[in-house]
Amino acid sequence: MQLRRSNLGKLAARRFDVLVVGGGINGAVAAAALSGKGASVALVDQRDFAGFTSQHSSNLAWGGIKYLESREFGLVRDLCKSRNRLLDAYPSRVLPIRFFSTLDRGFRFPPRLVWAGAWLYWLFGDARTAPPRWLSKATIEREEPVVGTARYAGGLEYSDAYLHDNDARFVFQFVRSAMDRGCIAANYVESLGAQRVDGEWVTRARDRMSGAEFEIRSTALVNAAGPFADAHNALVGERTAHRHVFSKGIHLVVPRITSSPRILTFFADDGRLFFAIPMGMRTCVGTTDTRVDSPNVDVTDADRQFVLDNINKRLNLKTPLTRDDVIAERCGVRPLVVKTGGAAADGDDWLQMSRRHQIDVNPTTAHLSVFGGKLTDCINVGDEIAEHVAAMGVALPHAGYRWYGEPHPSVREEYLHQARLMDLDSYTSPQSIERLSSRLWRRYDQQAFELLAEIREDPRQAEVLIEGTDYLRCEIRLAKQQEMVTRLEDFLRRRSKIALVVRREEIRAAKGLMEACEILFGSEAKAKFDEYFEEHP
Ligand SMILES: Cc1cc2nc3c(=O)[nH]c(=O)nc-3n(C[C@H](O)[C@H](O)[C@H](O)COP(=O)(O)OP(=O)(O)OC[C@H]3O[C@@H](n4cnc5c(N)ncnc54)[C@H](O)[C@@H]3O)c2cc1C
Repeated sequence: MQLRRSNLGKLAARRFDVLVVGGGINGAVAAAALSGKGASVALVDQRDFAGFTSQHSSNLAWGGIKYLESREFGLVRDLCKSRNRLLDAYPSRVLPIRFFSTLDRGFRFPPRLVWAGAWLYWLFGDARTAPPRWLSKATIEREEPVVGTARYAGGLEYSDAYLHDNDARFVFQFVRSAMDRGCIAANYVESLGAQRVDGEWVTRARDRMSGAEFEIRSTALVNAAGPFADAHNALVGERTAHRHVFSKGIHLVVPRITSSPRILTFFADDGRLFFAIPMGMRTCVGTTDTRVDSPNVDVTDADRQFVLDNINKRLNLKTPLTRDDVIAERCGVRPLVVKTGGAAADGDDWLQMSRRHQIDVNPTTAHLSVFGGKLTDCINVGDEIAEHVAAMGVALPHAGYRWYGEPHPSVREEYLHQARLMDLDSYTSPQSIERLSSRLWRRYDQQAFELLAEIREDPRQAEVLIEGTDYLRCEIRLAKQQEMVTRLEDFLRRRSKIALVVRREEIRAAKGLMEACEILFGSEAKAKFDEYFEEHP
């Protein structure tokens, strides 16, 4: 809370080169790129960082194999390159994963064509991943007995990548790296609109926790409000060449379907790719693609039933999955880009709409709007925004700085060496499916050294604090100091993924949760605990 309080004061007191509105993936990379390159940057989000679309994705960093069908070869090539960049830059956070895909008999394309497509996809990705493999029915039965083969002609396995710790944590790590480079960020701060006064933007902001209003002054304004980008442009009077339409997608988190670390891939009844994605001891199943008019969406009974029916139809489960098996739900809208004045596509064309991002720039007012995009493309988005901002006349004294990526391998080696010397892995919780040393590095990189020091000083810091989870006492202390946890949900849903993988009633009863609240919120612990369970009964 101290970090946020201090940043709120600085937001009102200083004058910035750039204010970024929106702390989803696009705003987070904008802030990380610009502050790394030497601009003075402010970042605000009216919710928590990654509290909207960027916490509801499929967690894939992928080249978009499905866009081969709509012949968007350029997009697939670009996304494959973006995926490879992420794999190279984040060797512990973005990991290759195999997609185990089955093809229905009578599928809309002959298996040979799909097989050829998988090789083309692999080549578009510069053969950076393991090559595709054909799956006979016998191989499917042997390797994934949970997949019912009665309806399948065979299948194929190919590679892409996924975000090991979830989209929201991945986004927060950009926000943290922006703050490490001087960015002044605050969650739960809403932009109420902005005016251009004497060559600078004056943005009216409201602290949603206290209700207090104040002004933020900046030379340039970056609108990264995601699905609310059009609404924010209306508030500031900016006209753009593009606008958003919305596609709703849901996922259901259920008990683990298969222990193999790969994504089971099917074609759902509507012809779209449909995934069962590993999430530790859980599986995340989805998604859907429904045109909606508003970004504010919820999972409906029909959505739930669609996902359950489709997965049950394609798996050999002893007992079919029902609503009682659903541990958590995720639901968001993909902000898709169309030309302003142009109509959105209908019917099948809707599913074929491009997922490319667009950045509209108004050099006269030093205003920039980001439309669409994907987590996969985030490094490019950060670089492009920095180039546009520099072209508006904002000085970037370290323009060549590499603002993204994990620390140099030698830093990781040193960390692992220290971890070995203190036998860190002996503290790994019996419930954890991963060694403690790799988990701490992936979640904290440089900051993991501080955790080692704390555990060396006091081994109690390596105890799991919240029963039924992996999170250690020292991690909660670090979250308090470094991760701007303002509400309990920020920690349970986004800094960690507890709320996605543990049932609500178990979280509530978990030993240690109140102690975690006391560390995070001090005298407000009980109020924050009650607030969370009132909102999530
Ligand atoms: C179901 C689904 C699956 C997906 N799967 C993938 C995938 O596997 N891989 C992939 O690469 N991409 C995927 N995507 C796409 C990706 O998640 C989105 O493109 C991306 O998260 C959009 O990020 P954003 O920053 O533009 O928007 P958001 O994450 O929505 O961020 C915008 C932020 O702006 C804030 N904001 C709005 N108005 C204001 C205001 N007035 N003041 C302050 N803050 C404001 C909001 O609170 C919000 O946090 C998926 C999307 C969905 C919905």
